[in-house]
Amino acid sequence: MLCFKGDKLLLFEGSFEFPVRPEPVLRCSLDFPPSWGETIPWCEVDESFEPSGGEWLDLRSLWALCGDEVFARAGAAYQYMYWLRHTRFCARCTTPLQLSRLDRGLCCPACGWTSYSTLVPAIIVAVERDGHLLLAHNVRMRPRIFSILAGFVEPGETPEQTVAREVMEEVGIEVQDIRYFGSQSWPFPSTLMLGFTARWRAGELRPDGVELDEAGWFTPETMPQLPSPVSISRRLIDHFILRHSHS
Ligand SMILES: [Zn+2]
Repeated sequence: MLCFKGDKLLLFEGSFEFPVRPEPVLRCSLDFPPSWGETIPWCEVDESFEPSGGEWLDLRSLWALCGDEVFARAGAAYQYMYWLRHTRFCARCTTPLQLSRLDRGLCCPACGWTSYSTLVPAIIVAVERDGHLLLAHNVRMRPRIFSILAGFVEPGETPEQTVAREVMEEVGIEVQDIRYFGSQSWPFPSTLMLGFTARWRAGELRPDGVELDEAGWFTPETMPQLPSPVSISRRLIDHFILRHSHS
């Protein structure tokens, strides 16, 4: 089973599947009621659990090591674990919650309120203008790493509306031809990334100075340093490069 300690996953003798149920566990998916269905076996252990031959890996660094499939399993397990860890009391009456026997929820034995795992939708968009791609530097990213724009979907919005709003807010331009590209589960902690492409319509780049301190139009030949190859942002950038490379 996948074994987490804090936000780290155990790599034990070259495998992410720990062969037995560790003791003691803080939480274990094997203890869930049948209503939770077939879940990926996972557990969360406390600080004292330290098997020899084990190494604890940060979930973000995992992707490059283990590939999409293991990352998807670990990401799904991590999202459930994160939710259970942070949702312990009823939001209506503060009674401790229990695992529901009706569905994949946490229910309140006192007032009947049920909590379900949260998933936060966000957009990420590759904007093009005459063979150039819009890339920006986010103040929270490492220096000189540029990427495409992203932002959270707000209540009442379609993801396409979010694309138009975020691009306008962050760099001050209008876009058109907003098209869905693909998606990615992004378990940090529970985001669903929806990828889009779009084309410039009007305006000149004015980075907002709050989230973005620099933005520009780049050709495949003039690309700055880019994000890691496993993210959907990089897939969108690579998609642009493939269509516009002259070599
Ligand atoms: Zn309650």
